[in-house]
Order: sequence, then structure tokens, then C-alpha cells
Amino acid sequence: MNVLLPQAIEPEAIALLGRENCRITTAPDPKPETVLPLIRAAHGLILRTGIAITADLLEAADQLLVIARTGGGLDNVDVAAASEKGIIVTSNLGVNTISVAEHVLSMILALSKRLPRMDQAVRSGNFGIRYRNLPRDVSGKTIGILGFGRIGCQIGKICHQTFGMRVVAYDPYLTVAQKEECHNWVRMVELEELFATSDFISIHVPLTDRTRDLVDDAALSLMKSDAIIINASRGGVVNEAALVRALQRDRIAGAGLDVFSQEPVAADHPLLKLENVILTPHTAALTRECVARMATEAAQCVLDVFAGREPPNVANRQVLESGRWKQLNA
Ligand code: NAD
Repeated sequence: MNVLLPQAIEPEAIALLGRENCRITTAPDPKPETVLPLIRAAHGLILRTGIAITADLLEAADQLLVIARTGGGLDNVDVAAASEKGIIVTSNLGVNTISVAEHVLSMILALSKRLPRMDQAVRSGNFGIRYRNLPRDVSGKTIGILGFGRIGCQIGKICHQTFGMRVVAYDPYLTVAQKEECHNWVRMVELEELFATSDFISIHVPLTDRTRDLVDDAALSLMKSDAIIINASRGGVVNEAALVRALQRDRIAGAGLDVFSQEPVAADHPLLKLENVILTPHTAALTRECVARMATEAAQCVLDVFAGREPPNVANRQVLESGRWKQLNA
């Protein structure tokens, strides 16, 4: 079977496909005009984020059985057009949960312990900074989690179990069963209470019309002056101008940002001049282990379909009802 890779994937995944005798074609670049002629012969496609699989491309994909996303988002696949052609689309929900959680925790700890500042002080001969007692403990503090899904819940669990932190969360979409599962160690609160009572706020909502600019001047003005905010969800959830104002005026103590309203961040962005922030280039999920996991799980989805098995996380389950897929073994 032919597997098309619009962009290269990790060697572990290539080896997995190779063991099943797949013929792998890696596009020289992920431009639509390059991928178009290659997609005609593909039976499976493993998709990163460098290209959108549009209806136009799918028009040519007459052999294609499955599109497997290495990550969780499907914003670069025309799922409706794929469904019309009976192509199974899978995503990789949850594969990056622990990696993002670790990233957020490292930001919380680095900001609390003032690691960038301490490192700079030692390098510049200011060993005496140790007498100023700038670092803070996280133990016993309150973390407020906005969006208590996979990542938010994982972070809450670690903060509670490892650091004895109080956990409050805001997520109006949790089911009763989900709330039941964590009611011993999380208190669900309204947004205003979360902002006003948390020592750390960590944001884990998707970017939607309802969450865009959710963290604005009004929300930031409710925060404690020694509180720290972390955003590893999507840049648009935090109003960056408001955040910069709050940080410049020491309204809050610091911020850890993995995502930005515009990526890459412009060279003259005022955030880059602030000392009380830690910035990372949307790398929370890009650990060596996580990218290998994402690629191998996507490759496994393709192999599942080739072998007549139903893969996990099918995004367009309705296609499974069509004659083409009725025989799949779950
Ligand atoms: P998830 O779907 O498991 O959880 C999202 C949670 O947000 C859900 O429980 C949902 O009910 C809640 N939610 C939705 N709208 C809300 C609102 N208006 N107010 C409060 N809660 C709301 O997703 P996840 O796997 O935990 O990922 C969370 C987000 O993190 C993703 O949407 C993605 O944007 C981002 N993410 C970033 C990276 C990165 O590299 N920085 C990696 C993975 C995911």
C-alpha cells in the first residue's frame, strides 16, 4: 500500500510502516501543487500541519482510504470533503497531554523560583541575590485551571498530588460524570472567583468565539498582584495588549507563554522586553518523545485501516456506516 507523507515524519513511524511493507513517498515540499500529483496514488496519508488537505486536493485522491493527523487538531483537513469520498479521518487526541502538562509545570516552577533571573545574576557576578529571597514555593498555593479537559485535568492532578496545591477550575462543559471523578480534589468555581483567588492561573481551553480574549483587562484586574498566569492553549485566548499592560505595571507577578496571537512573535513585540515572563515558541508538545508518539500513532491508524481494523479517534464516524467500511473490525 502507498503512504504519502506531505512532510517527513519520525524514523520510528517510518520503521513501523516499513515493517508492514508500505511504499512510502515523502513529498519534496508540502506545497499543494507538489502534493497534488502524489496524492493520486496514495492509499494512506499522514498529515502534520504544513499543508491543508482541501477539497481540491481530495478531488484527485481516488485511492485514498485514510488521512491520519499526527496531532489533535483537524483544522487543516476538509473533513466534510473527505467524508463525501468515504475517506476515514483520524486525529490524535490526548497524545500530547503529558508533554504539555510538563511544559506548563516547568514554567510554573521556573517563574516561582525566578530561574531566568537567578541564572543571569550568577553569570553577572551577583551571587548576593540569594539573600533577597526572591524565589517562592508553590506548595500549598492555589492553581486555577481554565478549561478542565485532558491537559487541564492532568496539570491539576500533578499540582494536587505532588505539591499539595489547592485546585480550582472553570469549565462549564464538563459532564456530571467528569465532575464526579475529580470532586475530591478540585473545586469548580465561576470565572471571577478563579481569577481572584488563584496564585497560578493556567489556561487550557480551545480557541473559539467564546474564548477569544477571555483573559482581558477586566479578568487581569481581578488577579492577585503576586499571581502568575500561564498560557499554553492558543494565543488568541489572552488579549496580549492587556497582558503586556498588566505585566508592565506589575499588576501581576509574571507570565509563561507558549502561544501567541501571532506566531512567530514579531521582533519588536513588547513582551520580548519584559523580565517577568518566560516565552517558548509553541514547543509544549514538541518533545522528542511526543513527536515520535504522534507519528507512530498516526502510522498505526493508517495500518489499522489497511488491515481492516477500525482505528482509534475517527473524526468522521459516519463514513464507517458506508458500504466501503461496514466490514471493519472494531
Ligand atoms: P480538551 O478538549 O481535552 O479540553 C479542553 C477543555 O476546555 C474541555 O474540557 C472544554 O469543556 C473546555 N472549554 C471549552 N470552552 C470553554 C470555555 N469557554 N470556558 C471554559 N472551558 C472551556 O483539550 P486539551 O487536549 O486539554 O487541550 C486544550 C487546548 O490546548 C487545545 O484546545 C489546544 O488549543 C491547546 N494545545 C496546545 C498545545 C501546545 O503545544 N501549546 C498542545 C496541545 C493542545
